[in-house]
Formats: sequence, C-alpha cells, structure tokens
Amino acid sequence: RELPGDPEESLHVRQVHGACYSRVMPTPVTAPRLVAWSPEVARLVGFDEADIRSPEFAQVFAGNALLPGMEPYAACYGGHQFGNWAGQLGDGRAITLGETVNPDGERWELQLKGAGPTPYSRRADGRAVLRSSIREFLCSEAMHHLGIPTTRALSIVATGEAVIRDMFYDGRPQAEPGAVVCRVAPSFIRFGNFEIFTARGDQDVLQQLIDFTIARDFPEITGNTAARRVAWFHSVCERTARLVAHWMRVGFVHGVMNTDNMSILGLTIDYGPYGWIDNFDPAWTPNTTDAQGRRYRFGNQPHVAQWNLLQLANALYPAFGAVEPLQDALSRYATVYETESRRMLAAKLGFEALRDEDDELVETLHELMTAAEVDMTILFRELARIDPEAPTMEPLVEAFYSDDKRREHEAAFAAWLGRYTARLRAEGLPAELRQARMNAVNPRFVLRNYLAQEAIDAAEQGDDSLVSELLDVMRRPYDEQPGRERFAARRPDWARNRAGCSMLSCSS
Ligand code: AMP
Ligand code: MG
Ligand code: MG
Repeated sequence: RELPGDPEESLHVRQVHGACYSRVMPTPVTAPRLVAWSPEVARLVGFDEADIRSPEFAQVFAGNALLPGMEPYAACYGGHQFGNWAGQLGDGRAITLGETVNPDGERWELQLKGAGPTPYSRRADGRAVLRSSIREFLCSEAMHHLGIPTTRALSIVATGEAVIRDMFYDGRPQAEPGAVVCRVAPSFIRFGNFEIFTARGDQDVLQQLIDFTIARDFPEITGNTAARRVAWFHSVCERTARLVAHWMRVGFVHGVMNTDNMSILGLTIDYGPYGWIDNFDPAWTPNTTDAQGRRYRFGNQPHVAQWNLLQLANALYPAFGAVEPLQDALSRYATVYETESRRMLAAKLGFEALRDEDDELVETLHELMTAAEVDMTILFRELARIDPEAPTMEPLVEAFYSDDKRREHEAAFAAWLGRYTARLRAEGLPAELRQARMNAVNPRFVLRNYLAQEAIDAAEQGDDSLVSELLDVMRRPYDEQPGRERFAARRPDWARNRAGCSMLSCSS
C-alpha cells in the first residue's frame, strides 16, 4: 500500500519499492462516448441497460468520475520480456477502479485500460487507441464464449482525444482515436507481480503477496502455510496447462507471452498483437516485433508457457525453501498439458480418446494442413460432415486457400481420409452423437484477424455497428448461425498481408 502525498506525486513515474500497488487517479478526457458494451459482463457486475446508457456510465468508464467506494490504483510488477528480465514494468496504462461482489458472491475487479499515466508508465503515455481497445474487447468476450479462461470486458468508451502512435509499417507517428476499455476479472495478478519482489530481494512482501493470493483467489486450498503454497503452485501450473491446451484447440496465438502477461489464475490476459490461425501453420506469429525470434509462434506456446512457469518457480523459491515441490509442479504442467491436449484433439477428431497409434494420423493431418494451406477452423468444423462409410473431399473444399495446393495434395488428403474414416468406423459412435461432440469443440466462428479489422475500420469512421454485430456472433461460436455465414469465411485474399489482418505490432 502506497498512499499518495500530493496528487502530482502520485503521477510521478518512478521505481516503487516495498509496495504491491500505488494509488493513482485516472486522467480525465474531453468527450467520452460509449462505443460498445457486453450485456453478460454488465450483469456480472450488477449493471442493467439503463445504467450502461446513462451519461454517468461513460464518464466513469472513461476515467472522468468515480463511483462511491472506488479507490483507484495501479499494480507493481516486473517481467521477463522476450526471454530477458526487464525489471519493473507495472500497470503503465491500467488502473483498477475497485472490486464489486455480485449477488452470487462472486468478486470482480474492474480495471480501466488506457485511462492515463501511472507511476509505472515509464516513457509512454498511459493511453490506448480505439483499434487495440476494440481488439481486446471483442477477443476477450469471444474467448469466454469459446469456453476458454480469460479476463472479460465490460465496455469501450472512446475518449474524443487523439493518441499518437508509430505505425509499424512505415514507422511514422500517426494520430489515432483513443479509447478506454473496462476489463473485468477476479484478479489481474500476473507471474511478474511475484517476480519483482524476488528480483529486489524483498522476501517479506513476496511472502505476503503469495499468502494473500492463495487466501483470496484460491480459497479451495487449505492446510498449513507451507502445504498451501505447494498446492497453490501446482494449481497455477495445472491451470496454465489447461489454458494453453485450449489456445491450441482453437488456433489462438497470444503473441506476447511475456511473464507480465501471464495470469496467476490461468486466464488469457493482455490482448495485444494476438492473432487467430487461418491457414494452419505452427510457425506463424502475428507479432511483427517477434518476427525475428518467433518466440511466440503458435506451435511454441506450450513450451513458452512452461518456460514462464520456470521463471515463476525461480521467483517463488525463496518462499518455498526447497526445489522439489517446485519441480514436481513443473512436471505436472507437462503431464496436464499432454492429457488435456490429447483429450481435446480426440474430441476435435470425433474419437472417444486418442490412442497411441493415432499419433501418426494427427501428425500427418497437421503436416498436410500446413503444406496445403488449409484453414484450421473450417477444416475441423467440416470434418464432422465426413461420412465414415463414403468419405469424399467435398465437405473440406472450402478450407483450402489455394486450388493449386489443393490439387497438389489431394491424393495425400484422400489417403488420410481413408485412414481417418477407418478409425471412425472402428470406434462406431452413432453419427449424430459424434457430430454433436465435434461441433462442441470445433467452433464455426472465431474472431478472425480480418473480421476484427473490418469492425475497426468502420468504427474509426464512426460506425460502431460491426463491433456490436461481431460481439453478437461470437456469443454463440459453436452454433450454426443462418444468415451470418460470411463471418465464418476463410480469410479473403485482400487481408493476407494487410496490417491488422495478419501482422500486428505491440504499438497499441
Ligand atoms: P505489454 O507488452 O502490452 O504487455 O506492455 C508491457 C508494459 O508496457 C506494461 O507494463 C504496460 O503497462 C506498459 N505499456 C504498454 N503501453 C503503454 C502505454 N501506452 N503507456 C504506458 N505504459 C504502457
Ligand atoms: Mg502487458
Ligand atoms: Mg498490452
């Protein structure tokens, strides 16, 4: 707890020692305007539509006013960025307004992103552009409806002010409309919140933060202090494994898996230069900042998550005093990831469970999808339409990005289908049951990069309707939605190499 002396002091950018957070006020903006809101999240935190549409809402959620009881603060954390220790980072443009407990007894933290500078802003402005705010808002809600642990988003409020960013494709500064997102989660604590105290030798605060986190966010864990800490890190490893297995299931690439962007609750957090796999490619990363190292490419996510957990284990060591329990938990990560990803793959393919002899079938499919440029989402969705008794390529044709590559790999695909359907016949699940199971894990709709970009382009011209429509589509990603087929289409050619559609920078 750090209390501001005078208000000027609370904005002063600095190294913050001996404290988990700093009190700070949002910086007011000139012309707040509500762009979009999520009805489900509104309900979670106790707002009805009239509340949301009141002029007061836009004021509070742009950072111009506080509701009674709100005591805003920014959190102190560090992190490993792109493999290196980066020192103090902290909430440079995130400000927590407060927490609310809903009638179901759930506690939700409300946090503004882009509401102005904090003591952790370093050389940046504490602001966010409308573009990245729409991306965070839509994707966090889409992830939730896909059944994937994530922070949520309540609202986007445009600020009426311009924000200057270096556009990555020409490096020239450009004015863009600014916005503030209100994101919502039980906790925004990251791996980096623990790392910073160990890096500074501040074991006292480290231990307090660990025990606070366990008591508040992991109430199911009981026992003495030492036992609880061990069980807690196990739980963190397991949650992280499940999270990454889900990302791989739906083709989500986080893009910046630095330890300051890893949630202690195993939530997807910090939507920056993320992307969705269109044509299947384990080596793809949407993050142009990472284009060289490709550290955060799709296929590397399971490995990087474990590396991040290892950094967290190193940070926790002073509070554990022994290596074995930490190592056990890390190997638990590998076990749970393996189990979960195999369970999900089996479900995607329509099998009861994956058998050892299926490994080759899966590997061949992944190789073929990569070589033939096949859309991941369409392919898996359409696999459910394959008739095990009379397989043809017909249901899969839409998934190919190039006719030439399809023809080139058609024979290999047909051979694969032969083996796949033999396996389905051996399992003998009734077709309807198999299809229902497959459709429950293979989404029809994901927030394709070009779709988000279309909504952004329209919103920047003052038309927010596509943001709302996309939110609505993404609320039922596993359902066929007649009349909305266009939102399930593979990436159009114009979007292949367009900024925002396949390449993104951290500049948000
Ligand atoms: P990210 O790569 O988005 O996770 O950000 C890394 C760090 O930079 C975090 O500490 C952010 O709070 C901080 N940061 C990013 N953008 C800004 C900004 N516009 N103003 C202040 N801090 C920022
Ligand atoms: Mg971050
Ligand atoms: Mg970010």
